[in-house]
Amino acid sequence: MRIARFSSGEDVGFGLIEAEQDSGQEYVARMSGHPLLGNIQLTGERAKLEDVRLLSPVLPSKVVCIGKNYADHIAEIADVTGEPTDDPAVFLKPSTAVTGPGDPVFYPPISERVDFEGELAIVIGRVCREVPRERVKDVVFGYTCANDVTARDLQQTDKQWTRAKGFDSFCPLGPWVETGLSLEEAGDLRVTTTVDGEVRQDGRTSSFIHDIPAMISYITSFMSLLPGDVVLTGTPAGVGPVEVGQQMTIAVEKVGELSNRVVARE
Ligand code: MG
Repeated sequence: MRIARFSSGEDVGFGLIEAEQDSGQEYVARMSGHPLLGNIQLTGERAKLEDVRLLSPVLPSKVVCIGKNYADHIAEIADVTGEPTDDPAVFLKPSTAVTGPGDPVFYPPISERVDFEGELAIVIGRVCREVPRERVKDVVFGYTCANDVTARDLQQTDKQWTRAKGFDSFCPLGPWVETGLSLEEAGDLRVTTTVDGEVRQDGRTSSFIHDIPAMISYITSFMSLLPGDVVLTGTPAGVGPVEVGQQMTIAVEKVGELSNRVVARE
């Protein structure tokens, strides 16, 4: 299933993405209640996908990010982030960084280099802590696309990454949560980033240094995860700067595409 959060007029709700077989026309079928709280029931109401505004598919209490999870990316950015570590490198983005598909990413005037980082994002489905590898499949709700937008110059000068990674709008998520992938499938997906249509990153999640069970198991060894929390899984090689006006698109195979334009902060 593909579960989106959307607004239509004054209403905000969740819906299933459906496609009509003959025409290919996509619809959002409205659900009652909250998909993370149990039964998924449709109200019978539906709208064409292009007639609604998709929102960030979840509102996480926190976004937990894994850094340095692809060897080729570690190599390209060693001058900023140093050597690989044995354990996963973990940092947080605040919930206020989250924004939705099509929303602007605001370029902070204080930065002179803002980078895209295309990533597979994991959406957590239940309260969990100390999850062993073999139980990770029980706590994953689904997957979406993420852009771990980073003020690279501030990441270098600040040493710790909270400001560089944490500006409002620096965590686009979407377009929906795909709930139908097994851990094995999620561990072998193509992740690409294009800027104004030009391919800049093209990796596969099979290149993860720490696989999804290792990430979730490690994070929950010291931090509880809540329903709707999001884990960013790291970015492949090819990160680079964007300028105001450019359009970044993160595509994750079998999940979807997430596009956001860089906009000057007024
Ligand atoms: Mg990242």
